[in-house]
Amino acid sequence: MNFNKYYFFLSMFLIINIFISCGSDIASLIEEDAEPITYKFGYEESKYVFEEKKVGRGDTFGDILEKQGIDYPLIYEALEKTKNDVNFRVLQRGKPYTLIFTNDSIPSLKAFVYHPTIEGYSLIQLRDSIFGKTFKKDRTYKDLSASGTIDNSLYLTLQEQSIDPLLTYYLSDIYAWTIDFFRLDKGDKFKVIYTQAYVDDTIPVEITKVKAAYFIHKGVERYAFEYETDSIKGIVEYLDQDAKNLRRAFLQSPIKFGRISSRYNLRRRIPLYGNRIRPHRGTDFAAPIGTPILSTADGTITEVSYTRANGRYVKVKHNNTYTTQYLHMQKANVKVGQSIEQGDVIGWVGMTGNTSGPHVCYRFWKHGREVDPFRQKLPEAKPINESLKKKYLNDIVLIKSQIDSVIIKNKTSI
Ligand SMILES: [Zn+2]
Repeated sequence: MNFNKYYFFLSMFLIINIFISCGSDIASLIEEDAEPITYKFGYEESKYVFEEKKVGRGDTFGDILEKQGIDYPLIYEALEKTKNDVNFRVLQRGKPYTLIFTNDSIPSLKAFVYHPTIEGYSLIQLRDSIFGKTFKKDRTYKDLSASGTIDNSLYLTLQEQSIDPLLTYYLSDIYAWTIDFFRLDKGDKFKVIYTQAYVDDTIPVEITKVKAAYFIHKGVERYAFEYETDSIKGIVEYLDQDAKNLRRAFLQSPIKFGRISSRYNLRRRIPLYGNRIRPHRGTDFAAPIGTPILSTADGTITEVSYTRANGRYVKVKHNNTYTTQYLHMQKANVKVGQSIEQGDVIGWVGMTGNTSGPHVCYRFWKHGREVDPFRQKLPEAKPINESLKKKYLNDIVLIKSQIDSVIIKNKTSI
């Protein structure tokens, strides 16, 4: 409502200006004296004092208002009256908010405005009439393309082009089952068509999705097209150029980002042990302490335990064939017997047990034998049925030609 008022005043101001510009001498005198009326969050800037602040650790709406001398009954009343219009239950630490005070000899708090992003704000007016409102700018969307040649990592290639790092996240998510992102080769190439959201038509706020992607790794071309495979349940998957699901029963890695610091190697020699062969039957992923560890597939927790060598660890039985284990955790997030889904956080990276640095040691059993998951042909997710496949291959013709026409950037051409 207040925002409408803002526009009302703004248009009034414009009308007055037009009037002045074709008016008398008196009017032009007024024009010289008249300061343009400006508003912030719907409040006239000259009539109020705006104090910009940031949410501190553990700050709540109640705390902030109490510090301004607002009594609890008023806080309660304000929250009750506005509960359908604003939600201040969780204020994110470090996000900006504004206190609006009356410009009197004794200033009093008129309103509280929380504006965590440039996309909008939520406001409670505390004086005169109590009301709340949430204002959100309209988004517009545009499909954009990006491409690159890997020199070091996907992240760095996209960073060099100043593209939102969220795109790295989306791509690694789409290809999590089919491409080992820890083992990309120099010269691997990719293309992507994604949707970018804007406010005020020009300010980018968020990449909302990837519509199509293309990756060439080890000479193998892999397309990925976003496709609704179940319109009733609203399930959206990424399928390749042959309508194969890019999802596998197992994730390639139990952590989203990090690097493989030691691979499965039965002939590993360690200087610390007199250069004797100490087989390494796991894959180590180095990552900072506290990094979430994900279960690589659906399953049931069979062990949550601690030993001197393993530190804190979790074991997951996926089915009668596969079992995985995750070692050196800082903390586990699951209990024995619990059912989990692929990608669920089962613990956090630590350095408990026999380890020299923070990492997760990922172990993989097939039919009770420890194997290297990267050398296994892992089972695919359920394929789509024949009639849907036909429809799919028809539906992707346009988007495929679009991504095919994207010219891949070389490192030198920015
Ligand atoms: Zn290990």
